Amino acid sequence: MSQKVALITGASSGIGKEAAIELKKQGFTVYAAARRIEKMQELEAKGIRPISLDVTDDESMVQCINEILKIEGRIDVLVNNAGYGSYGALEDVPIEEARRQVEVNVFGLARMIQLVVPGMRKNKSGKIVNISSMGGKVWTSFGGWYHATKFAVEGLSDCLRLELSPFGIDVIVVEPGGIKTDWGIIAAENLKKVSAKGAYTQAASKIADGMIKNYTGNQLSKPELIARTISKAVTVRRPKTR
Ligand code: NDP
Repeated sequence: MSQKVALITGASSGIGKEAAIELKKQGFTVYAAARRIEKMQELEAKGIRPISLDVTDDESMVQCINEILKIEGRIDVLVNNAGYGSYGALEDVPIEEARRQVEVNVFGLARMIQLVVPGMRKNKSGKIVNISSMGGKVWTSFGGWYHATKFAVEGLSDCLRLELSPFGIDVIVVEPGGIKTDWGIIAAENLKKVSAKGAYTQAASKIADGMIKNYTGNQLSKPELIARTISKAVTVRRPKTR
């Protein structure tokens, strides 16, 4: 059989980028998808195929999947990794921004699944890896919308696993803790921006500074750790649970 085909969203940096490298090492044909296609030259040099994708744009998602199916005829693995942290007190975060957070972290992930599942069902096999977070199980102040999206990812994934297991499709949830990527800096900047004025400025600023210290320091694990977890999840045969 020809090489298995993996598609990783949010592969222009951090966990997605390292997952693309790891799956390529494991022998997959890898498509690395993100908006910043120019950030994926290093991946291209390793034989990984960059592909443009904005998970808030339906046309972009349809085009991405169709292009891969046209070339490869199949997608065996989807790693739904694209995401960011929109932090701030519920009172402060504009609903428009909250919608964008849900759009990227939840609807984008769900729509990508809708687009790959018909092919996987036809092939009676497939692996869908949804990158949730430790924040899909626990919560922190000022993380309301981010946690809400990751709790949603957990619930969606657990239901989906029941729906897809009769078709031989596996749904895997990965829940990273703090990982040294741009994620923490982006989340801290979002928090500072949205809390610049108002009742939460002082408390939010303290938390944002802590996040920046954490994510620029050397305490956190590297994205390669999660990349290896993803690789293991899609290469190891899982025991039947029912
Ligand atoms: P990064 O900021 O390094 O990577 C995020 C990726 O998501 C980028 O490649 C970005 O690509 C992509 N992305 C964002 N918005 C969109 C969009 N609209 N369409 C397509 N791609 C998009 O962070 P991480 O690698 O850390 O994050 C990866 C996942 O891991 C996220 O889901 C995050 O929530 C989760 N996570 C991270 C943790 C951490 O501590 N780092 C902890 C727990 C979970 P581009 O901008 O080029 O489109």
